[in-house]
Amino acid sequence: MRLVLVGPPGAGKGTQAEFIAAHLSVPKISTGDIFRANVSQATQLGLEAKRYMDAGGLVPDEVTINMVRGRLAEPDALDGFLLDGFPRTVPQAVALDKMLTDSGSTLDLVLELVVDNDEVIRRLSGRRTCRGCGKIWHVEFDAPKNEGVCDRCGKELYQRDDDKPETIAERLKVYARDTAPLIDYYGAQSKLVGIDAEGPVEDVTERAIDALRSYSA
Ligand code: AMP
Repeated sequence: MRLVLVGPPGAGKGTQAEFIAAHLSVPKISTGDIFRANVSQATQLGLEAKRYMDAGGLVPDEVTINMVRGRLAEPDALDGFLLDGFPRTVPQAVALDKMLTDSGSTLDLVLELVVDNDEVIRRLSGRRTCRGCGKIWHVEFDAPKNEGVCDRCGKELYQRDDDKPETIAERLKVYARDTAPLIDYYGAQSKLVGIDAEGPVEDVTERAIDALRSYSA
């Protein structure tokens, strides 16, 4: 299956993407994770992307599209994938459609995680990420036993620079302006399924899997 997950920052895309990808046995491809890995390895791509990420903006389409084109050509993605955080603009969506058409395939479904704005702000400001395994925690909703330490691997937790309050406001603005138009774009292709993404993580996963089941039925 070829899937895209969309939703505002803080909708839980990263968390849900892990569960859904495991359920479908497809690779989860997160552009944010790829950029962050490049930033921590100080690659050329990472140095370029960091400027935009730290300011709460988007990495330019051309850079992002080329990166995704390369990733989708890897063997593990040939039979299916779950894209988390891509596309984030209409030109990226058009480029993705073209990449897939050129390789004789198509997108099956776009899952939209629907969450209201206040909830998004609460989620992002309390989010902490593990430096070791990348697991996402939350100081209020999903706190580890020992503050600041990952229960899974024992490494330190950190707050992403782009989860600081000023940057959150900018990211929400960018989402409304550049990414929300994808809802109409995929709606017009009849590929969009909206999922209520509030409430416990497991309930949201179940709603997503139910939606996929109705699609394949
Ligand atoms: P995420 O982890 O998905 O929230 O992504 C973190 C940051 O990486 C975003 O705020 C952007 O700066 C950058 N980024 C991730 N995906 C994209 C994309 N598809 N297009 C442009 N920038 C992106």
